[in-house]
Amino acid sequence: MSGTGETEPDMALADGPEATEPDMALADRPEATGPDMALGPGPRTRVRRQPQRGRYDRDTIHGILDEGMVCHLGFCVDSRPVVVPTAYARDGDHIYLHGALANDALRSAITSGPVCITVTLVDAVILARSAFHHSFNYRSVVAFGTATEISDPSDKHRALLRLVDHAVPGRNSDARPPSDAELRATRVVRFDIDEASAKVRTGGPMEEPEDLGLDVWAGQIPLHLVAGTPVADEPTGVPAAIPDYVAAYRRPPRHDGREPACAPGTG
Ligand SMILES: Cc1cc2nc3c(=O)[nH]c(=O)nc-3n(C[C@H](O)[C@H](O)[C@H](O)COP(=O)(O)OP(=O)(O)OC[C@H]3O[C@@H](n4cnc5c(N)ncnc54)[C@H](O)[C@@H]3O)c2cc1C
Repeated sequence: MSGTGETEPDMALADGPEATEPDMALADRPEATGPDMALGPGPRTRVRRQPQRGRYDRDTIHGILDEGMVCHLGFCVDSRPVVVPTAYARDGDHIYLHGALANDALRSAITSGPVCITVTLVDAVILARSAFHHSFNYRSVVAFGTATEISDPSDKHRALLRLVDHAVPGRNSDARPPSDAELRATRVVRFDIDEASAKVRTGGPMEEPEDLGLDVWAGQIPLHLVAGTPVADEPTGVPAAIPDYVAAYRRPPRHDGREPACAPGTG
């Protein structure tokens, strides 16, 4: 999909001309959530493009981080930018990452200075009557901070359990914990969020008034991450009972029956 050939830099696919709309009322602005509860905005995180989509409160940012499965870790090596996808888990305002000792991205993230982590959830494809106004509904987080290595074995252990729990809540009660040798072979990194923003697009297509009468289907196609049927690994030929957290696996995970803090927008 693409916009018109004359697309201006600020008229691109998912962040289109809604910027011409008046801003939200002051009381609706993210700052209204209060500085005590917010991780931004700061000099790096104030959403300037489509500012009405910016969110800075912990509930929204934590909710997106908890629902995502993969983050993108960005850092600079010799002034060259590198972005690497990797698993993660949140703990308060920290994000845990892990990898082999030889993992170059993690080593660089620790030594190269400031680090940026992003997480993206795509909630819908937005079909407008014009090619130009096609878009996505999404929830995303951009977080700036620093990465440090966790060396203390018990802290490493806790972070690794958190990573497993993020991917499969409940799994730690069954899986063999990491051995000392496995802990030693694993680099565990803690990213401390200094400042973060979320950006959330919801709703249907924006349209030019003159396009509304066109005989063209328009609307949104919701997208969900759906777990397939689990496939057992049975090397001994003796099947293990399938745990509830496998049989009922879903994203976003259901913790204590609560829905995620920031549910996908439907309009
Ligand atoms: C799935 C998806 C598809 C997208 N497709 C496009 C596209 O095709 N074209 C396009 O122009 N834009 C697209 N966007 C929006 C894009 O992420 C940027 O927000 C947008 O390009 C504006 O960039 P900017 O540098 O001008 O933002 P600015 O508003 O100048 O950025 C300032 C600060 O705002 C925050 N911020 C900006 N964007 C985000 C974000 N997405 N999430 C959290 N914080 C943010 C960051 O802290 C950033 O440092 C897409 C976003 C998503 C999630």
